[in-house]
Amino acid sequence: MTEKILFKYIDQPDQYKIDTYIKNGGYQAVPRVLKELSPEQVIDIIKKSGLRGRGGAGFPTGMKWGFVPKDSSKPRFLLCNADEGEPGTFKDRELMQKDPHQLLEGIIISSYAIGANLSFIYIRGEFAFEANRLEEAIKEAYNKGFLGKNILGTGFDLEIKVHRGGGAYICGEETSLLSSIEGVRPLVRLRPPYPAISGCYECPSAVNNVETLSNVPHIIINGAEWYAGIGTPKSKGTKIFCLSGQVNKPGNYELPMGTPLRELIEEYGGGIKNNRKLKAVIPGGVSTQVLPVTKVDVKLDFESLIEAGSMLGSGAVIVMDENTCMVETAYRLVQFFEHESCGECTPCREGTYWLSRIMKRIVQGQGRMEDIDLLLDLCDNIFGKTICPLGDSVTIPITSTLQHFREEYEYHIKNKRCPVERK
Ligand code: SF4
Repeated sequence: MTEKILFKYIDQPDQYKIDTYIKNGGYQAVPRVLKELSPEQVIDIIKKSGLRGRGGAGFPTGMKWGFVPKDSSKPRFLLCNADEGEPGTFKDRELMQKDPHQLLEGIIISSYAIGANLSFIYIRGEFAFEANRLEEAIKEAYNKGFLGKNILGTGFDLEIKVHRGGGAYICGEETSLLSSIEGVRPLVRLRPPYPAISGCYECPSAVNNVETLSNVPHIIINGAEWYAGIGTPKSKGTKIFCLSGQVNKPGNYELPMGTPLRELIEEYGGGIKNNRKLKAVIPGGVSTQVLPVTKVDVKLDFESLIEAGSMLGSGAVIVMDENTCMVETAYRLVQFFEHESCGECTPCREGTYWLSRIMKRIVQGQGRMEDIDLLLDLCDNIFGKTICPLGDSVTIPITSTLQHFREEYEYHIKNKRCPVERK
């Protein structure tokens, strides 16, 4: 086990205060960056480190910053996506609650790298405690001269604003988030143009996740090679895995990329509750494909999970035991996406409604055998045909449970009841 990076001091009760953060080595990267490195050098370090986005898509962070034009006459913005709304994901919340200065330091460095003088932290509306904690941390950082005008006498200015979200899952999608910050209805925007060219207020913008930005100060202090030496050849660094479901010790665990999924469940999570058997795992949040027990001997990194037929996503590992009905599970997830569909595009708006209705009748013992093909046909007409990835996401619980647990659907339809005998 590699030493923890982001969670090194997470259990110190006053790590959220600036004096403790500084005592534990914090805010050393800011003077180094502002006094010794050019923005291009910072971007180069992050590129060499191999850091990839931790919000779900896994896009290389340094490359994303490199797309922001340096010669634009418009202001540039660094946007921190703290709208953590994927069911099963709760890592950014803990990072903001317990170590907010780590994130602020990452934002200062990242803003410098892209030439932004204003940064927004777009935080999920329900995270009132974390929003207040960030406001306090920002005040402390201003008082110590890490924010505001002429930071540490270097001539670099930066303001950070906390923007409370409107309570919709869709606001975590990067273009919708931009609209929400601008104060308009958070509809998803077609890309291109990408936010790097035309983002917040139609100005060049970079949108990065909380966990991603929190890694940045550590990479600056310890070097790109150090970071690139952790994890696997293509998935570098550590990842915070949000372990939930039927395990004895659910929680956030920071582990190197490439850690075996079984190790996370059995060693860190203490195994399955009540000595039941493991049935399936959703490895990366509810937008990723379910893996049956026969496929859980997989490593937790971007490439291995794709090879296994799923994705790393946000790192939300949801564990299901033998008492779980996979049809009901898929129905619950479809209901979630139906509720969160913004209605902007027809396949998602209409499709989520119909998927939900059909799933409901199967779960309630009123399904027809031809419903299975109808579900697959509907999924086919939604996947890849919507403006944002929510449309794809709603199909995944159905197609992946049908792929691995089709007999449970057939049992529900034939016998008009659930096949799972609860123990
Ligand atoms: Fe809205 Fe769904 Fe279309 Fe996304 S896919 S833009 S959530 S209707």
